[in-house]
Amino acid sequence: MLRVGPANDSTNRDTMIGVIANPTEQAAVCEFFELFKTPWEFYRSGRQYEVLLYAGDGEVNEHSAKLILIYAGRKLPWDAQDSVEAGCGCSNSRTLSYQGTGIPIYGDNVTFGEKKSVLLVDTKSQQPAAYIEQSGERMLARIGYDLFREIGALLTVGQPASNASIPALDLHIALLRDLIVASGARLVEIPPVPQGHPFIACLTHDVDHASIRRHKFDHTMFGFLYRAVFGSLGNLFQGRISIRNLATNWSAVLKLPFVYMGFAKDFWSDFEDGYLELEKGLCSTFFVIPFKNYPGKTSHGLAPKFRAARYGARDIADAIGKIGGAGCEVGLHGIDAWLDGSKGHEELEEIRRLTGVSEIGVRMHWLYYDQQSPVTLEQAEAAYDSTIGYNETVGYRAGTTQVYKPLQATRLLELPLHAMDTALFYPSHLGLSSRQATALLGRLADDAVRFGGCLTINWHDRSLAPERLWDACYGDLVQDLKNRDAWFATAGQAIRWFRKRRSVVFETDGVEPDQVRARVSAAKGDRLPGLRLRIHNAPESRGIGAQGSEGHVDMAFDERIKTRFPSGVGQC
Ligand SMILES: [Zn+2]
Repeated sequence: MLRVGPANDSTNRDTMIGVIANPTEQAAVCEFFELFKTPWEFYRSGRQYEVLLYAGDGEVNEHSAKLILIYAGRKLPWDAQDSVEAGCGCSNSRTLSYQGTGIPIYGDNVTFGEKKSVLLVDTKSQQPAAYIEQSGERMLARIGYDLFREIGALLTVGQPASNASIPALDLHIALLRDLIVASGARLVEIPPVPQGHPFIACLTHDVDHASIRRHKFDHTMFGFLYRAVFGSLGNLFQGRISIRNLATNWSAVLKLPFVYMGFAKDFWSDFEDGYLELEKGLCSTFFVIPFKNYPGKTSHGLAPKFRAARYGARDIADAIGKIGGAGCEVGLHGIDAWLDGSKGHEELEEIRRLTGVSEIGVRMHWLYYDQQSPVTLEQAEAAYDSTIGYNETVGYRAGTTQVYKPLQATRLLELPLHAMDTALFYPSHLGLSSRQATALLGRLADDAVRFGGCLTINWHDRSLAPERLWDACYGDLVQDLKNRDAWFATAGQAIRWFRKRRSVVFETDGVEPDQVRARVSAAKGDRLPGLRLRIHNAPESRGIGAQGSEGHVDMAFDERIKTRFPSGVGQC
């Protein structure tokens, strides 16, 4: 048995978070504690807690726990009693600085003018947005925003592109964790980190074209010609590409008539060979279009006609076979699945028929999505979704590196998309050079090392070929992720790993009422990396934010490990 509480504490007060929240935020609370996987329960009166997280409208009993965390974006009676002057509670999207990192706040928030604290500071006014009060053995932390409203907003509306670079949800978890550890409590969690690796990397490819021969005298062909001839020249003058790449692109332009006549190789076909060779067994995921020449619908009518692909999955059956044979995954690059469950079902069936695989996940073409899409995709029986990301930039729309369950969904999990090649390089988007793109991707990988989770990349089918020639940057990225010892997973594997983590429950064993053990209910022999059990220690000398990698102990998660908690851990 592994005991988690302080060794000299004989009372029933091991680390357990009691949560008081508004009933309307219950789904956000439950999902938050799937992402911060630690023992918790909704507050039960009469029970003593080590940690009490108060984020609701009820009364606060300051004697109910050793650490009381009060999250509220409005002035509380509590604040008035203490003569705390609340700041403006109407300014949205305020950014708070935590350990030098900005956390954007999208809902109501307050600052505390009379308090002296550097824990969390409004970046504009420099006023404290949180403070800590110590009284004997008890500690109270007052944080000036609504935690679960923020989590709800991140997991439904998401962040504007201007805040894309900030993993806001992961920072909310980090702040809460640091506060608990700094209070002296020991904390146990199952971090989003696979055993044996610091994080997960998911390499994906949206297959939008698959062939240039199918694009005769359309906007794709003219776009190719323009960018290959003039765009390349401009890029050469700006020092963004080599003369060799310019020559490759101009040569491709000259060959194009012969490609159309069938005398020269179609340089956009055989995309799978290029990726399989470059990735060398790393197992990526290819999302393919089900049906050709159909642009799909929007909520107002038909989508723009150039959203239609010129190929359908059955046209590239050989490539699909090769991808599956190499241990890679084929998913659906959906057309209408985001909007129409029965159409989504048809689209998924087409991919099931061609792959012989029943569990098919989705990424929508052009990232079409709305707030009902998780429900619609569940109706279509999608295995997962991987659409939540940005077309125009890279980063964290939902504020996290983690796979999560959208609040509208009952089972569907979302593998958020963090970086697309087109967002990095297109002049109308970020317009980066290869070196700048590599640096930006490196920062995303730094976040993955810091927070764990899964870094998801999308490099399109034609991006290794003329006129894009974005192969060098992709090769550097793959090498960087290898150097960082990422676990390279297909999208389906990443989803299954997170399902395994979500399956962990902290429960009583029925024999010893005070003993709660962590149990994983996912099947054994899943050939996925294991989970970790992480125990944070909090020596007296450590202050807020001092928790480094040395401040915790990781061990391979084993269902035989028992942890001692009060009985009756809440589940959603
Ligand atoms: Zn697409």
